[in-house]
Amino acid sequence: MNIVWFKRDLRLSDHAALKAAIEDGESFLMLYIWEPNIMADSHYSPRHWNFVQQSLNDLNRQLSEANPLLRITILQGNAKEIFHAIHQKYQLKKVFSYEETGLRITYDRDKELSLFFKETAIEWREFQTNGVVRKLKNRDNWAEYWKAQMQKPWDVPNWTKLRGDCLVFDESNEIYKRFLPNDYLLKDANNFQPGGETYAHRYLQSFLSERAKNYSKHISKPLESRKGCSRLSPYIAWGNLSIRQVYQYAQNAKKKVAHRRDLDNFISRLHWHCHFIQKFEMEDRMEFENLNRGYDDIERIDNEYFIERWQSGLTGYPLIDACMRCVCQTGYLNFRMRAMVVSFLTHQLFQHWKTGAVFLAQQFLDFEVGIHYPQFQMQAGVTGMNTVRMYNPVKQSQDHDPNGIFIKTWVKELENCPENFIHEPWKMTPMEQELYNFRLGENYPFPIIDLEEASKKAKEQIWGIRKQQLVRVENKRILNKQVVRNRKR
Ligand SMILES: Cc1cc2nc3c(=O)[nH]c(=O)nc-3n(C[C@H](O)[C@H](O)[C@H](O)COP(=O)(O)OP(=O)(O)OC[C@H]3O[C@@H](n4cnc5c(N)ncnc54)[C@H](O)[C@@H]3O)c2cc1C
Repeated sequence: MNIVWFKRDLRLSDHAALKAAIEDGESFLMLYIWEPNIMADSHYSPRHWNFVQQSLNDLNRQLSEANPLLRITILQGNAKEIFHAIHQKYQLKKVFSYEETGLRITYDRDKELSLFFKETAIEWREFQTNGVVRKLKNRDNWAEYWKAQMQKPWDVPNWTKLRGDCLVFDESNEIYKRFLPNDYLLKDANNFQPGGETYAHRYLQSFLSERAKNYSKHISKPLESRKGCSRLSPYIAWGNLSIRQVYQYAQNAKKKVAHRRDLDNFISRLHWHCHFIQKFEMEDRMEFENLNRGYDDIERIDNEYFIERWQSGLTGYPLIDACMRCVCQTGYLNFRMRAMVVSFLTHQLFQHWKTGAVFLAQQFLDFEVGIHYPQFQMQAGVTGMNTVRMYNPVKQSQDHDPNGIFIKTWVKELENCPENFIHEPWKMTPMEQELYNFRLGENYPFPIIDLEEASKKAKEQIWGIRKQQLVRVENKRILNKQVVRNRKR
């Protein structure tokens, strides 16, 4: 028998692995594995597994509606042990799956499995995920390649071509009984976007037809972006949608709607998605180390108090606090606010990016290692090649939440704070505090740092080191690998 191993590709349409398994002609099992050691990795939290469980339930509902005998078998345990057990009993021939640009822990798992499949003469056919290319040496022509991939027809599994059986392990199966799965649905997950291919298409359609009208206008606003952006990131991250599907739907929508520029803007983000993952695919040490080794010399001292205040949204800077509380409760923040909270942690609080990367990975429902780490390092200013942006949280607040509606939604202590103080409540005099029945230091903290002083210090450190020899040498190395050579010239 063969196996289609579902990983972060939890969809039925545009699925090359499933299509190939059907066309192969052999009987096959559709398999998802809950892997306890990966689930225990500190980047993940129950909200992720809830999303995966919802996605699997949705796939099984779709399959059983098409044919009551079709079902994805879910097992729980070590992947190698599971494949070994199946091979012993059923003589595995081929495994079909997508390539995964993952954490080191999943990369190591894949290397171990690759060896096992070789030793046991099982053919492992891996398919390219979106526009991300394995073993790429440099970025010349990558952009053109990406576009061509996006324009290709979908890989539609054609169930009418099924010749073998589509196998299912049920409660009577020995292997099922040995690797019995748990259910990971959270009871109280209403704050999060629901997982699954069906919801993914609903979000996509409502965005393209209606919500995208305000995409460019609302993209930077913490409140309005929640509707004005696509909110497709968790669906893309867990594979409920392929980037090619989104790209082609968006290109088609452009022919029918007036908000074409917004859609062009959106399509450019789809390119970024693969661009960042490609970066990580080519240099996955970014999970642990600065991309530019020249920045290793900057000394940062862990400050538990700062980190704890940042994580719990108690820094005294209203927009930072609102963002941190919001992302913890809902799993989502728009791009600019993500960049701002990371900038605040790594520049103004001068903490290492590592102290925030794992924590935010746990919060982001769309956690995608290949975007997360390159973005984190870029915002922390340790890549050397990107312009360092230091966000001023007060200015961001005035520009993007001028009436403080987002702030007041998440920082209830400031609900009665008048608009003219909402961005800088510390400017209230004792008499004004009395008037508004609000005591700084009691109802809401004083700012934990002096913004101006902290920003100045950080700029000196980060800008200062840019001229050092190692930073320059590293820049050259990174440019050669990660940037198109024509542009570099
Ligand atoms: C520090 C930091 C960490 C991040 N971590 C993640 C992460 O773990 N997973 C993740 O999907 N995105 C991450 N992003 C990128 C970005 O913030 C989100 O993709 C975006 O906010 C998701 O919202 P949306 O789906 O409404 O995006 P839209 O604006 O509607 O964009 C559509 C899609 O394009 C992609 N995209 C959008 N912006 C970016 C970007 N800047 N870089 C790469 N791809 C992009 C996403 O797949 C997104 O779903 C991170 C950004 C920062 C600054």
